[in-house]
Amino acid sequence: MVARSNSFLLEERQAFLQHAMEMALEEARSSLEHGDVPVGAVVYMGAQPIAKRHNEKELTNDPTAHAELLAIRDAAHAVGSWHLDGAWLISTLEPCPMCAGALLASRVELLAFGAFDPKAGACGSLYNLCVDPRFNHELEVVSGVLVDQCSSLLSKFFQARRDTR
Ligand SMILES: [Zn+2]
Repeated sequence: MVARSNSFLLEERQAFLQHAMEMALEEARSSLEHGDVPVGAVVYMGAQPIAKRHNEKELTNDPTAHAELLAIRDAAHAVGSWHLDGAWLISTLEPCPMCAGALLASRVELLAFGAFDPKAGACGSLYNLCVDPRFNHELEVVSGVLVDQCSSLLSKFFQARRDTR
């Protein structure tokens, strides 16, 4: 019985994460308006989305303007604390080392991401910074949520960019 209710909870959580990922994908598409790589991130506190941002690196000429980092900043402002205990971050792309560092620094509880990033991913691909016991915080990582949609949004963007060169 316990096993059954646990698997039910996992299914519920997966459905919630997929719904949240749809919002992150919607946010990611806004990056296209200013020629940025389409990446979106949403921060949830409980069932409530408290921040959503997209990649603005080209728009602001800021190498740190990644969707995840901007969303973490907004979320901290929204709750009035840098300590995002219990928050979940949903990102269309696997976070890089900088964003994984921000997840650790803000004490986010869970990270869910869609597409893997074999060239910069620090949450499973190149490094596994979110689950390294040597740090003073670890978070749960759920990878591959709506992976096909997240990956195809990115590959279409890069394909179009190659075609226009
Ligand atoms: Zn990043």
